[in-house]
Amino acid sequence: MSNYKENSVQTFFPSEDGNQKERQQFMQLIEQLITGVDNLKNPNGVNLSGEKERSKSFYTDLIRNSAIPTDSTDQKEVNEHLLKLLHNHPYHSKYFLTNILPMASTPGILGMITAFLVNGNNLWDVYGPAGAEAEVRVISMMSKLVGYDPQLSGGYTTWGGQGAIFTGLRLAIAKVAPDAPRKGVPRNLYAFCSESAHYSLFKSMEATGLGSDNLIKVRTHSDSSMDTEDLRQKMEKVIAEGGIPVYVVATTGTTDAMGIDNVQLVLQTAAEVAGKYGIQRPHIHADSALGGFFAFFREYDFLANPLGFTPQVLEALQKIQSRMQYMSLADTLCFDFQKLGQTPYSTSLFLVKNAADLQLVDLAEEETPYVGHRGYGDYHTGYTLECSRMASSISIYSALLAFGVTGYQRLLAQFVEVNLAFRETLRREVPEAVIVNDENPAIMTLFRIYPDRRNDFQAELSGQCSLARIEETNRLNEQLFEVLGQKREIMFFGDTKKHLVVPTSDGSQTSLSAAKLFVISPYTEVAHVPEIVDYLKQNIDTVFHSYADTLQPIGG
Ligand SMILES: *Cc1c(COP(=O)(O)O)cnc(C)c1O
Repeated sequence: MSNYKENSVQTFFPSEDGNQKERQQFMQLIEQLITGVDNLKNPNGVNLSGEKERSKSFYTDLIRNSAIPTDSTDQKEVNEHLLKLLHNHPYHSKYFLTNILPMASTPGILGMITAFLVNGNNLWDVYGPAGAEAEVRVISMMSKLVGYDPQLSGGYTTWGGQGAIFTGLRLAIAKVAPDAPRKGVPRNLYAFCSESAHYSLFKSMEATGLGSDNLIKVRTHSDSSMDTEDLRQKMEKVIAEGGIPVYVVATTGTTDAMGIDNVQLVLQTAAEVAGKYGIQRPHIHADSALGGFFAFFREYDFLANPLGFTPQVLEALQKIQSRMQYMSLADTLCFDFQKLGQTPYSTSLFLVKNAADLQLVDLAEEETPYVGHRGYGDYHTGYTLECSRMASSISIYSALLAFGVTGYQRLLAQFVEVNLAFRETLRREVPEAVIVNDENPAIMTLFRIYPDRRNDFQAELSGQCSLARIEETNRLNEQLFEVLGQKREIMFFGDTKKHLVVPTSDGSQTSLSAAKLFVISPYTEVAHVPEIVDYLKQNIDTVFHSYADTLQPIGG
């Protein structure tokens, strides 16, 4: 007999003894949620069905109407409220083409549930032994995948690619200024990343107290990769003015265009400049949050092609892999499993080539009084910025086991294949939409339209367009963003206002706006591409027409 009590506070919790009755009740509640979501699904649109009036007063109404109920609410009824939250929610159908916002895979979700069932704290292996074990395992797995020595490497799961960039910076500072964790950060330390890098480093500079003025942006080539000659010159300039370069972030897979910095050249450049001026080589972080997952092709036999990819897909994958091959030269890396790893938020893995580096930012024993040091091993994370940590490693572990190397290879290859088909069809059917990241094989395409359907892209790259002209083109593209955005429940596209920084003919510089298609849903297939392109064509025509109307002379 179970000791189940109808009116006990214990009914808010899973059973203590594993009895069948409470398990069934728990399962029914979970089934209610899953059935509820399934009933909302609509594969011919982007959003789940259901009503959601998002009037101007939506949030103020919520504030007015929300209060904690005095009495307890039956969970079945709570579930109905939870399901209402999901009404009209974007869902990863085949028309979900917006950004690196993946669907959580079944293995990823089950890994999370596993972690929640024991709710360990990954702060310390005595409190969270399952999470610690999974974390050590996935760090070893990913180290071997990228070519780090798993005996020397280390890392931990953290809050995003941004968290990885931030701790990379903490390590970079501590390497050059070992006193900094106690005495504060010297003012003359500088960090470098390309103009196409993620803004995470900008924020990290603010948060460490260095200030974002000490972040130097390095020019990119037209393929969005870092111009390492410009890196050299900017590092030398900083040194000449009394600064010390401590951190270089090489982006291996930019979020918009899939530009891939050459980590070998970045490392070599940083080492040469450091050697010349007798300073320590800056810490190199490869921001592989998004693109790092292409390491799954590091050992793919491109000749034998065991998974039978088409020649075009094979060529694209090989090109990406060849640009990624130097990732393991970086001191630290990141894998955002919530991106191409197919696990729920937040499941980022920060990888450190030399685990010993983490001691630079660790706490002394006496500073962590209530965390014992009597773990099974010595697994105690005083170097993380988080104190308590979720065991997101369990979700990562689940996904790595379930997908396996070939599962990830097939998924990524599918994304690449659909994107290749999109580019080809777009070029054929809508030639006025110029693909502006065409040099980069990828899972996303950036495309830009020009007034009068001309193609100014090469002129823009080489600085032959005036600022006014580029701004006019940007406005035209932003009209397209608007038109597509208003109907995003039909197809959900992305866009960016920051593609490349180009010089203008009048001596200034600016960025290009471009619409974006991101292949991220496993349900988007090559067969859907013609329909997607057709839809774009109609909308692009609409924008051109309304643009032409604005040019009609009044009364003319
Ligand atoms: C997404 C992304 C980040 C930020 O990662 P979060 O997980 O959102 O914190 C940083 N760098 C790159 C290249 C990214 O794609």
